[in-house]
Amino acid sequence: MKSYKVEFTQTTTFVFDVQAENEEQARTDAEYEMTQSIRNGMTHHHITGESDAEISTVYDVTGTDDDAFMWTCGKCETHFPNTPEQPRCPNCKTLVD
Ligand SMILES: [Zn+2]
Repeated sequence: MKSYKVEFTQTTTFVFDVQAENEEQARTDAEYEMTQSIRNGMTHHHITGESDAEISTVYDVTGTDDDAFMWTCGKCETHFPNTPEQPRCPNCKTLVD
């Protein structure tokens, strides 16, 4: 058996109904609503369709102690597990050496 880390990226679309004078005001109001909802843990919004989770990265961590063997991207400072191949930042795709 091999060991893998499987990373999911979840995208959820939130839709807010707002009343406003114009589009810019609507955006501002919706952003405010969104911030408040997150802060309060309340859901005054609709979620359209199913929430969508897809696998973005699979790491082969076979034979590694993944806590001890983490790479750090020199560009964006993302931490990611050691891989047998030349390590490439999963965030900005920079090769780390
Ligand atoms: Zn990076």
